Amino acid sequence: MGKEYPFSEGTLGGKLAAGTGLSVYCLTCRRRAVLDLAALAKRFGPDQPCLHWDLSKIIYCSECRSAGRDDDRNHAVTPDKRRR
Ligand SMILES: [Zn+2]
Repeated sequence: MGKEYPFSEGTLGGKLAAGTGLSVYCLTCRRRAVLDLAALAKRFGPDQPCLHWDLSKIIYCSECRSAGRDDDRNHAVTPDKRRR
């Protein structure tokens, strides 16, 4: 466990520092969104763990929420290498 997520990138602050992005993929509506790490770090603190099971507790899919779908467990969060 944790091999794909090096410790330094296991938190929002670490992700920011590493310069890698983070995106969520909603398994329900199949929408993909790139998270605003800076905004999240501000909101939840840089120490907030950002593994998918952590994030799925604090973020939700606005599409699904407005449609009244269960939005608690729908998200797959994937590390997103920054593209040039
Ligand atoms: Zn959704």
